[in-house]
Amino acid sequence: MTSTTESTDCLFCQIVAGEVPADVVATSERSVAFRDIDPKAPVHVLVVPRDHHGDIAQLAAADPELLSDVVALADEVAGDLADGQFRLVFNSGPRAGQSVFHVHGHVLAGTSLGWTPA
Ligand code: 5GP
Repeated sequence: MTSTTESTDCLFCQIVAGEVPADVVATSERSVAFRDIDPKAPVHVLVVPRDHHGDIAQLAAADPELLSDVVALADEVAGDLADGQFRLVFNSGPRAGQSVFHVHGHVLAGTSLGWTPA
């Protein structure tokens, strides 16, 4: 499945629907931001579109305005929870580290971030 309004077996669709609890820190009409359950930085928030899309490329192709909404909410979260500076990571595919196949941006902030991942 690449794009639909909801996928019943998708963890992040279930969080968006309120069926699985999460620490929601911000919302927009079309996106939801909640804290990662296993944080890798002082601020580690996942920003997801409410609609189900598998990865960032699929989202960009299907609904670029929704991708823009995700980025805007990430910026809002970084401003609210940190100093406005942030890294936004979209893992795309298992070898890139994607484990949940509902597109999500990792907002990493609140400290000086190291580089590189590999
Ligand atoms: P990925 O590996 O797909 O880029 O990122 C998935 C992220 O989802 C991981 O950082 C993981 O810690 C987080 N995660 C997995 N299960 C849950 C959950 O049930 N609740 C929350 N808040 N985060 C989760």
